[in-house]
Amino acid sequence: MSKPRVAIFDFACCEGCQLQIVNLEEEILDLINLVDVVEWREAMSEQSHDYDIAIIEGSITRPEDEKRVLLIRSRAKILIALGACAATGGVNKLKNNFDMKEVRQCVYGKDADLPHLDTYPTKAVDEIVEVDYKIHGCPIENSEFARVIRALLLGKRPMVPDYPVCVECKAKENVCRWEYGETCLGPIIRAGCGARCPTAGFRCFGCRGYVDNPNVEAAREVMAKYNLTEEDLKTRMVLFGSKQGPTL
Ligand code: SF4
Ligand code: SF4
Ligand code: SF4
Repeated sequence: MSKPRVAIFDFACCEGCQLQIVNLEEEILDLINLVDVVEWREAMSEQSHDYDIAIIEGSITRPEDEKRVLLIRSRAKILIALGACAATGGVNKLKNNFDMKEVRQCVYGKDADLPHLDTYPTKAVDEIVEVDYKIHGCPIENSEFARVIRALLLGKRPMVPDYPVCVECKAKENVCRWEYGETCLGPIIRAGCGARCPTAGFRCFGCRGYVDNPNVEAAREVMAKYNLTEEDLKTRMVLFGSKQGPTL
């Protein structure tokens, strides 16, 4: 039986999620034995138009990106958005809070009007094409990447947590960051990172995006208990696509 053909592509991103794949170290060798990697700019020079699974890292930020992502979708049976940039737009969506001309001038100065530096408001991959699976996080958890790929190879639907970070945080018996007067976004953000930030002593700032059905009422109750306001929470929701989130 032939192995599934996998291609990995990048758009606007820091490539940190691809680095997380490489960081799988020994496990990456096991995974690579189970698939046929036909294109991966970060790791090989070969290219291919023939693949079963396309993995896209990065956001769509230019008109030509849109054409490219449509082409990738047309060739792939399964399309995976890898990391916050691809799955939700990630930090790249910060730019959408500004005028695009201003953004170009800020970054490129006198060259801002050159045609190849054209840019438009950032989009997540699923704002252009259908995405079959999303691997969340900035960066992704590489164990989750391995789990998703293994599930797909077994013909199963990968499990993506649809409960909030607080669940994992409480299981670790962390002292809640709200106790320190910090506006942790755990109640409304998708779990799957093992509450990485609160466990390390930081608030969750939302890199895995909003959980599908955030318990907004419970979040309001928590805020009231800690004398924090809805505005406090909203101002902390800027980094990872605040405009997509629930109205609190
Ligand atoms: S999601 Fe974060 S780590 Fe991954 S490519 Fe985007 S900016 Fe980099
Ligand atoms: S709000 Fe943050 S620190 Fe508090 S329980 Fe939830 S994830 Fe943990
Ligand atoms: S705790 Fe929040 S910000 Fe930190 S890794 Fe998890 S989802 Fe991302």
